[in-house]
Amino acid sequence: MHIPRTQSHDVLIAGAGPVGLFLACELRLAGCSVIVLELAPAPSTPLKELPFGLRGLSVSTIESLDRRDLLRPIEERAVSRSSPAAAHWMQQTRRPAGHFAGIQFFHDQVDSSQWPYRLQGPVSNVASDLASIEAVLADRAEKLGVEILRGCGVDTFTQSDGGVTVFAGGREFQGQWLVGCDGGRSSVRKAAGIGFAGTDPEFTGYSVQLKLAESGMLKPGRHYTAKGMYTYGAPGTIGLVDFDGGAFHRTVPITREHVEKVLRKISATSVTVTELELATTWTDRAYQASEYRKGRVLLAGDAAHVHSPLGGQGLNLGLGDAMNLGWKLAATIRGTAPVDLLDSYERERRPEGARVLDWSRAQVALMRPSPSSRALEAIMRDLLQTRDGATYFAGRVWGVESRYDLGDTHPLVGRSAPDFELIDGTRLNAHLQTGHGVLLDFDGCESLKSLAGRLDDRVRYVAIDAKERLGLTALLIRPDGIVAWASDSGSNDMDATDCTSRWFGKPLSIPT
Ligand SMILES: Cc1cc2nc3c(=O)[nH]c(=O)nc-3n(C[C@H](O)[C@H](O)[C@H](O)COP(=O)(O)OP(=O)(O)OC[C@H]3O[C@@H](n4cnc5c(N)ncnc54)[C@H](O)[C@@H]3O)c2cc1C
Repeated sequence: MHIPRTQSHDVLIAGAGPVGLFLACELRLAGCSVIVLELAPAPSTPLKELPFGLRGLSVSTIESLDRRDLLRPIEERAVSRSSPAAAHWMQQTRRPAGHFAGIQFFHDQVDSSQWPYRLQGPVSNVASDLASIEAVLADRAEKLGVEILRGCGVDTFTQSDGGVTVFAGGREFQGQWLVGCDGGRSSVRKAAGIGFAGTDPEFTGYSVQLKLAESGMLKPGRHYTAKGMYTYGAPGTIGLVDFDGGAFHRTVPITREHVEKVLRKISATSVTVTELELATTWTDRAYQASEYRKGRVLLAGDAAHVHSPLGGQGLNLGLGDAMNLGWKLAATIRGTAPVDLLDSYERERRPEGARVLDWSRAQVALMRPSPSSRALEAIMRDLLQTRDGATYFAGRVWGVESRYDLGDTHPLVGRSAPDFELIDGTRLNAHLQTGHGVLLDFDGCESLKSLAGRLDDRVRYVAIDAKERLGLTALLIRPDGIVAWASDSGSNDMDATDCTSRWFGKPLSIPT
């Protein structure tokens, strides 16, 4: 049988979800040729629209999107504010800052002085529907020259030292690298033989849109009951958690009768469902890939980790993977980085994934319909009302506590760079929009300038003062916005070996 072949690409991406699309943009920005192979023939499904498509974006995601000028188009397109699901959060006198297992904490409790290197950028709070996020990312990817082939799911692949051959939609594709961004049931992960292990589900979660016979029988908001948990957004948006060990999920079709039965059990009412308009289920299964790279195959997003959507962190985690991986894979392809740089993808991102999995497990422990979980919930409620408690939870939920261990003791190294407002009116994030790293020099120091000329050509030297320097004199910022080196000594006594050591994760000799 003749299998048509396409021209070879640097990177083949399986999956045009948000993570695959964002990664494609990152790779194209760095000059790689990319093709995205997507199983579904069309991007739209009702579950990506409101109310169920609502996705809260963490501070680190907002920063990443802003660093690529993707935040503005997402904000312009997003329709989140009209979501009935979000309504009970938005219509509060205090500004909500997040939640843990549904227990809210508020901005006025959070002590931001805990993060001395954080500057309040122009945007701090964004939620958007998934359809808008994907549409903006697909549009950007195509404008950058990414080919997106829909209805062309990856069936299998082979790999050798020289590259990968992917079989998808009856065609054959050649590439140097394959990245599986094909979701929690990733075919790429399975075909690569990468292990996936973790904890099995305790519940089936339901997101349903329905019509009720009686208004007023259910109270709006989130409620823990003797049998589980439900969230009601009037008139007919309901989230349910039924501790059935995940038995119902993806086993039989979701019917009106079944939803009514579960809703009655959990809400302890005799509520009547007259019509089921839309329904989906999910679980709290928390699994992570045993490795993020095997040879020439990498994983990112849900393909590398799955957990319950409680606290809404999966998309944020996946976009963080893509931001971390994109520039490293591109540098590997260009030959400007040692393979160690690519290894740092798993080193930096796998612990982040493990933390999020544990965060979602901790929320499940608090939601169980048991006296001990209710007692734990009461304590947690008290804690979240304290300043220290709210600040701790904000640090975790917003993602501002995250720090990669880059082997440097400076408190800013390994963290996201502050979005400095520079004296010409621009902000640092705008200088990262091309996907280059930045050597930011507030003092215009000659030695830094000459060093910049000898660094990777994907590093830009920017000599300009900031309105608020935060006590710093210079920073080396990776393309993903992470600080690789920072100086507050005033001497800027950085030598080339130190600098590239931090950039590449190990000391390198610089060609002169
Ligand atoms: C109810 C709910 C609420 C959520 N809320 C939040 C939230 O508020 N915040 C948050 O951060 N996260 C949230 N999440 C999680 C978030 O939606 C996911 O983590 C995110 O969509 C993962 O993106 P992805 O691109 O990795 O995978 P996916 O979005 O699953 O995309 C994978 C893509 O790969 C395609 N595909 C599958 N198999 C193949 C194949 N063999 N070949 C090619 N393509 C293939 C699929 O069709 C799909 O388009 C929520 C999830 C749910 C279920």
